[in-house]
This record gives sequence, C-alpha cells and structure tokens, in this order.
Amino acid sequence: MTDRKTELAGNLAKVEERIAAACAAAGRKREEVTLIVVTKTYPASDVRILSGLGVRHAAENRDQDAAPKAAECSDLPLVWHFVGQLQTNKVRSVVGYADLVQSVDRARLVDALSREAVRAGREVGCLLQVALDAGASGRGERGGVAPGGIEELAALVAGSPGLRLDGLMTVAPLTGEYAGRQRAAFDRLMDLSTDLRRAHPAANMVSAGMSADLEEAVAAGATHVRVGTAVLGVRPRLG
Ligand SMILES: *Cc1c(COP(=O)(O)O)cnc(C)c1O
Repeated sequence: MTDRKTELAGNLAKVEERIAAACAAAGRKREEVTLIVVTKTYPASDVRILSGLGVRHAAENRDQDAAPKAAECSDLPLVWHFVGQLQTNKVRSVVGYADLVQSVDRARLVDALSREAVRAGREVGCLLQVALDAGASGRGERGGVAPGGIEELAALVAGSPGLRLDGLMTVAPLTGEYAGRQRAAFDRLMDLSTDLRRAHPAANMVSAGMSADLEEAVAAGATHVRVGTAVLGVRPRLG
C-alpha cells in the first residue's frame, strides 16, 4: 500500500468503528446508516483510493472543484452528492455529475434543477437543506430553508419533472437556540422528517452528522452521515 492508502484505510477503519459503535449504542442496525465521504479540497487520486477501499458515496460542496474530480472518477462505482450552497448558474454543471443534491433550499433552485435534469435526461435526488438557525420563514446563515418552508418546497420538488424528493439534510447550527446542542438539533430534524414522510413516504433520507458529531446524528436516527476531516485529514483551506 502507498502511504496515502495506508493513512486513508486507517482513518476509514476508525470512522467505521465509530459508526458501528454509535449504531450499537442506539440499538440500530449498521446497514441503516450510510457513510458519505466528503472529499472537498482533496484530489481525485484520494477519491480513487477511497473507492478502492469500498467507499460508495462521495460528496463535494463547490462545483469548480467537483466537476473535474467527478469527471476524472467517472469510471468508479460512486454515487456523487452535492452538499454546498448552489447558485443557479452552476446547476447545469452540477446536474452533469451529481446523483443527489442535498442543499435544495429555494424554489428558484428547484426550477433550475428540474429544467437541467430534464434537459440532461437524468433524475436528480433532492434533499431539502433545513436551516435550524433560521427565523420563522427566513433562511439560514449557511443556506437552508426554515422549518416552516419545508412543506411548500417539498411539494414543489415532488411535482417537478426530473427530480425525486429523497428527504432532509441539516448542518448543526453554530448560532441560535441549537448552537452547541447537536443532539437536540438532530432530534428536531427527525421530527421534521416524520412530518415530511406523512405526505411523502418515500422521502426517508435524513442526512446529518459530520466528523465531530456523527454519534449524535446516529443516535437521533440519521440515515446518512457526511464525514470529511475524520477520513481525509484536516483540510488545507476552508471549504
Ligand atoms: C465539509 C462538509 C461536511 C464534512 O465536514 P467534516 O467536519 O470535515 O467532517 C459535511 N457536510 C457539509 C455540508 C460540508 O460542507
């Protein structure tokens, strides 16, 4: 093994142990939680190594980095998730490689995604990004729709050609009532997911938890955790 492969394999094993332990502690089956490795700022060569180590889900948050990386890795059996704030002028590019967009948070973005998905002949899975730090009907510091806006946006996605409503995503807020209270934030997301599934039973993905708080997310019931730093190392720059 190369040095990098040894390092990534070791990190991945530790993350796997953490997920398994969190599932056991919560009385959940390991298969109920999917690991998505967030490869942002790291090269395509790392994605290739991770794929060889059995990783099946990769996530990126900036189209400029993601598009060439996904193209270089197009021969690999990977599901690509887009998890960053998304400008409508990047949607055509993102739809070219992303199987799921986890950061759907406004009607204009839904319209653009639908138009480009139809044009590309693709079906794009959509998770609504929920801002638990937003005001009653405002938007979050780092994007996201306020809880009160979920129902309307979900109906829009569900009725849009080329799109599939898959569930909800959140990032634990740094400000507001949930700051520093990851478990409470993820419990709230689960309640919102329960509400969503009354009208949209198939939209059962709950994406929550990162390197620092994946245990809290698994305990709350997350189906997907998004882990970057704990697998790849501390990022060389903000991303
Ligand atoms: C970067 C990022 C992650 C991973 O964060 P780590 O702390 O590196 O595990 C997860 N979700 C989103 C939306 C991100 O941008």
